[in-house]
Amino acid sequence: MQRIRQACLASQRDPEEVRLLAVSKTQPAAALQALYDSGQRDFGENYLQEALEKMPQLPADVCWHFIGPLQSNKTRPIAEHFDWVHSLASLKHAERLAAQRPPGRSPLNICIQVNLEAEASKSGLDARGAASLAAAIRQLPQLRLRGLMSIPSPSDDPQLQARQFAAVAQLAAELGPDCAELSLGMSADLEQAIAAGSRWARIGTALFGPRTRPTSQG
Ligand SMILES: *Cc1c(COP(=O)(O)O)cnc(C)c1O
Repeated sequence: MQRIRQACLASQRDPEEVRLLAVSKTQPAAALQALYDSGQRDFGENYLQEALEKMPQLPADVCWHFIGPLQSNKTRPIAEHFDWVHSLASLKHAERLAAQRPPGRSPLNICIQVNLEAEASKSGLDARGAASLAAAIRQLPQLRLRGLMSIPSPSDDPQLQARQFAAVAQLAAELGPDCAELSLGMSADLEQAIAAGSRWARIGTALFGPRTRPTSQG
């Protein structure tokens, strides 16, 4: 929280604008509960099965964010159990999530994952793909478009990362005010992300320490 506040001050932003998303993949429910007890409510999970095991162990007012790669055969439980999806990158998944969102629940909040450098190792859409998916999401009342998410290419060049974040922010501005919730920045690069306008800081390692289990599980 201190780092987020400092970064906001450095870029003349209101710290109220930036929310901490605690990325809790591989962490036991007790670790999430400890953060909950200090006031944290937003938690991000990458692996569906692991998240479904932890959810019943945490209080009901936790806001759950799915941030991992989507697969068609897993969209139903995601539509049923999560409040946000930050990693939507296909029309097919958008349509499945919309159809599977239980009636009576508020719309599922969506960030479109973009990959403007077209890195093969990461999912995410280019600018044109993001624009057409945004238009489709606006037609699906069970989904609510909120913003763009991206994972920058690993780099120790802060200026390169700043340029990548700025390109995502520029695209979000072009897409319109319903795309304002930028989900940029992780433990290593949250300062550059906040300078570029991020509203969600997705932080794992800097909160919980290094992950001990591999993160490549399904
Ligand atoms: C794991 C993960 C994070 C958190 O990364 P840290 O470097 O541990 O802060 C953020 N976003 C996504 C999509 C992740 O998979």
